[in-house]
Amino acid sequence: MANTSYPASYYAASANPVPPRPALQDDVETDVCVIGAGYTGLSSALFLLENGFKVTVLEAAKVGFGASGRNGGQIVNSYSRDIDVIERSVGPQQAQLLGNMAFEGGRIIRERVAKYQIQCDLKDGGVFAALTAKQMGHLESQKRLWERFGHTQLELLDQRRIREVVACKEYVGGMLDMSGGHIHPLNLALGEAAAVESLGGVIYEQSPAVRIERGASPVVHTPQGKVRAKFIIVAGNAYLGNLVPELAAKSMPCGTQVIATEPLGDELAHSLLPQDYCVEDCNYLLDYYRLTGDKRLIFGGGVVYGARDPANIEAIIRPKMLKAFPQLKDVKIDYAWTGNFLLTLSRLPQVGRLGDNIYYSQGCSGHGVTYTHLAGKVLAEALRGQAERFDAFADLPHYPFPGGQLLRTPFAALGAWYYGLRDKLGF
Ligand SMILES: Cc1cc2nc3c(=O)[nH]c(=O)nc-3n(C[C@H](O)[C@H](O)[C@H](O)COP(=O)(O)OP(=O)(O)OC[C@H]3O[C@@H](n4cnc5c(N)ncnc54)[C@H](O)[C@@H]3O)c2cc1C
Repeated sequence: MANTSYPASYYAASANPVPPRPALQDDVETDVCVIGAGYTGLSSALFLLENGFKVTVLEAAKVGFGASGRNGGQIVNSYSRDIDVIERSVGPQQAQLLGNMAFEGGRIIRERVAKYQIQCDLKDGGVFAALTAKQMGHLESQKRLWERFGHTQLELLDQRRIREVVACKEYVGGMLDMSGGHIHPLNLALGEAAAVESLGGVIYEQSPAVRIERGASPVVHTPQGKVRAKFIIVAGNAYLGNLVPELAAKSMPCGTQVIATEPLGDELAHSLLPQDYCVEDCNYLLDYYRLTGDKRLIFGGGVVYGARDPANIEAIIRPKMLKAFPQLKDVKIDYAWTGNFLLTLSRLPQVGRLGDNIYYSQGCSGHGVTYTHLAGKVLAEALRGQAERFDAFADLPHYPFPGGQLLRTPFAALGAWYYGLRDKLGF
């Protein structure tokens, strides 16, 4: 990994202070070696420590360097694929388990924030905004679907009601999820890392896992040290590269970009989002936005397949922001950055075990803030010998991208172009 400092994001500029963490320079022994200090790795580490495991975390760069420290900060429940699609693919029993868990990640985040007193500007309330009658119809059926799995806190918003929560004239309606919400994502990761350390976990930064020696007692090698463990959890997601070749074949790193305005001031900020909810629209290539603690608008959207970094992020995202909020035409953009998430063909996470002792979870395809927190719990359960919920994820079928590693990028871009066109034309 070439660059190991945080990108020049609003989050890095407003991060809570943290102590420096050393690189691994010894040979150490532990129960579980976690590779990657994003939400998947940190959530796994926390649940394991709470259950008496000894945990060592290896992070190639810094805590929250990846998507977890760069994302839109939206606590969006469920998965990047609807439960009815899952049900058709895997049958009612497995779908029931997955459906029951669909809103658990958001609860875990709130429990973490409360238990470890994490300062991360947590706010309740997320809106899915419909741009067309067809999208509104989809939200209505999604509400019925989620209710079928016991998630009953959702409220449909007609055109008049959505205008009360977001000053964007494009929307015909929406759905409010009060168990959604938003956070300062890097400060959540940093707070979780501090919680890991408060329970005796050890985190090494600037310590990439460069080789895994598999076997009954696997060893993870870094440039200057190694960790012998009973179990390994691989949580490098879109930044993992080819460390575990089996995992690279069925997923594809994708870039997505975010901008942050200058502080808007209370009055303008309140006029855009009076209840301070976060919003994502219902397009396939969706736009999403929210206010920060100091009243900036964070706006994200679009995807770069294959995770190339675009030259001028502001030129890509600002027009989308002005389409939603033309009233921001004179507002300055203070920060613009990019980050990678990991796409799977089904858009469902890839979870599983390699041999007896290497576990992984990756590829939640865009909506990962809540899922990754759930993943940590489910992986910890599996290591404790309770694998029913782990197996519900592990049994999801996954397929390689058409075209293999060489052609998957243009094929996926073509697919996205088609769906983007459908969004534009409203069919
Ligand atoms: C710009 C952007 C906006 C997003 N917005 C949202 C949103 O608003 N809501 C939402 O739900 N989801 C969002 N997502 C997705 C979400 O952020 C991710 O799904 C989630 O953070 C993934 O967490 P993770 O821990 O699996 O991976 P990451 O956070 O990427 O962490 C992986 C970590 O592993 C480390 N690593 C990799 N390889 C190695 C190695 N060999 N050795 C040691 N360490 C290694 C990396 O340095 C990194 O720190 C967004 C993603 C991006 C990029």
